[in-house]
Amino acid sequence: MERYSIIYEKNPREIVLLRGSGCIYRKCTFCDYHLDCCTDTAANFALNREVLSHVTGQFGQLEVINSGSVFELDNETMDLIRHLCREKGIRTVHFESHYLYRERIAALRESFRPVELKMKLGLETFDRHLREDVLHKGIPVSEPAEISQNFDEANLLVGVTGQTASSVRGDIELGLQHFERLCVNVMCPNTTAVEPDRDVINAFLREVYPLYRDDSRVDILINNTDFGVGD
Ligand code: SF4
Repeated sequence: MERYSIIYEKNPREIVLLRGSGCIYRKCTFCDYHLDCCTDTAANFALNREVLSHVTGQFGQLEVINSGSVFELDNETMDLIRHLCREKGIRTVHFESHYLYRERIAALRESFRPVELKMKLGLETFDRHLREDVLHKGIPVSEPAEISQNFDEANLLVGVTGQTASSVRGDIELGLQHFERLCVNVMCPNTTAVEPDRDVINAFLREVYPLYRDDSRVDILINNTDFGVGD
């Protein structure tokens, strides 16, 4: 499993895949990557310390992901990330969080100052029916402004039956209005019962991908390892 990588394109940054206690939500029907977790806090810190030892700060930006939410990382790991930001001149740190932790984001932001914190939401789509009745994301609001409150960036998912090229484009356009940056993830086969819809993916690649391929605010992951971490 690769846990450290460098993203050279668009928003250059280092990225680390750390290990936490595990996603407390675990209800998203399409997700099996919450399996990368461990209840042994000391073992998690030992692994995370080794991964973080590769960070050089070369771009002044670090993205930290952990197959769940940042709030599931242990305290020692979080302290080490704060220390690393100061030591390596990292000005911006990116984390991910489920919507259910939204009330805790402001305090986390404060704890990192003067380092700027960017929080990414696993949104997947603005289509409430698809998001809640099919994907079970657990974001019980519909208004884009309410969804994006507290968050700076968002993940979108492409390849769910029911989506179209036009609906995905609508999600991206709305996302660009309400978030600073987006990460569009093309669905890959995994161990869940939710299968990627090839027709939706092909329509996206043909009609939508060319429109945003060079947009500096939109990362597009055709394979879920395109950032160089994971397996
Ligand atoms: S997508 Fe994120 S919030 Fe949903 S089950 Fe997976 S790790 Fe948890």
